[in-house]
Amino acid sequence: MKIVLDGGHHPETAGKRAPDDSLREAQFNFQVAEYTREELLTYEGVQVLFTHDYGRDVPLVERTNKANEWDGDILVSIHANAFGDGKTFNNVRGIETYSWNGPSPNGDRLAIEIQRKMMEFTKHPSNRGHKQADFHMLREFKRAAALVECGFMTNREDLALLKSDTYRKTCAKAITAAIVGVYNLTKIKEEPFMLERAIVINSAADYPVAEFLARFLKSPIHPRKNAEETQVAKEIFVVGGTQAGLKGTNFIVLSGENRFETAAKVKAYIG
Ligand SMILES: [Zn+2]
Repeated sequence: MKIVLDGGHHPETAGKRAPDDSLREAQFNFQVAEYTREELLTYEGVQVLFTHDYGRDVPLVERTNKANEWDGDILVSIHANAFGDGKTFNNVRGIETYSWNGPSPNGDRLAIEIQRKMMEFTKHPSNRGHKQADFHMLREFKRAAALVECGFMTNREDLALLKSDTYRKTCAKAITAAIVGVYNLTKIKEEPFMLERAIVINSAADYPVAEFLARFLKSPIHPRKNAEETQVAKEIFVVGGTQAGLKGTNFIVLSGENRFETAAKVKAYIG
C-alpha cells in the first residue's frame, strides 16, 4: 500500500506559526509525519512518500501532482490549526479532521477514523469532529484523502501539546492506527531474538575446555540435547562430537577424537 504523508507548510511560510513564535507549524507537522512514517513501516507492504520538503515550501499543485504521479493509495495531510487573527492567543482548541466536500466516500471513511483514533489516543478534551471542505490537497488527490488538524497553535494549552514530543508521537500512533484499521494492515512479524554465538558440548568431559571458549567468546554453553531441539545461536561452536543433528546453518566444529584432542583444537582456535 502506497501512503502519502503531507506535512503542509514550510517552516518559513508566513503566518504558519504560534503567536509568540515559539512554534512553526511545520516543526510539528514534519515531525508527526516522520513518526507516522516510522510507525507505518512496521506494517507489511507499506511504502511512504512525503510531499513536503525541508528545503523549500512546495506549492500545493506540485504536492498533489507528486502524490498522484507516485500513484499513492491514500493521502494524509498533517497540520496544526490557528484561530482568529493568528497573532493573539484565545480559548479555541481541539482536534478536527477533514475530507473533501465533493463525493469521496473513502476519504470520508478515512477522515472519520482518523478523528476517532485521534480522540481515543490523545484523550484531548475538545472533539471538533469530522468536517468536509474544498481544500486543494483533498480535492486534487485522486484517491482517499484526509487532513487532520491536531490542535491550535493559537491556544496556550494546545500549543504546549503541539510542542511536546510525547503528543507528536501519540498523534502519529493515532493516524497509523486509523490507517491500519481502515485498510486491514498486518504488522510485520519481528524476527525472534537469536544469540550471535553459542557453544554446544557433547558431554560433561568437554565442559572444562568449553568454559575457556565461553570466556573468550562471551557466549553460553549448551548441552547437545538443547541444540538438537532448537537453534541456540546464529553461529554454533561444536566442542566435542559432530554437527550432525544440531539445528542451525553455521557451525564451527572444534572436536577431536577424544577430549584431549578437542581441548587442543579449542586452544588453537583461541590462539
Ligand atoms: Zn496548516
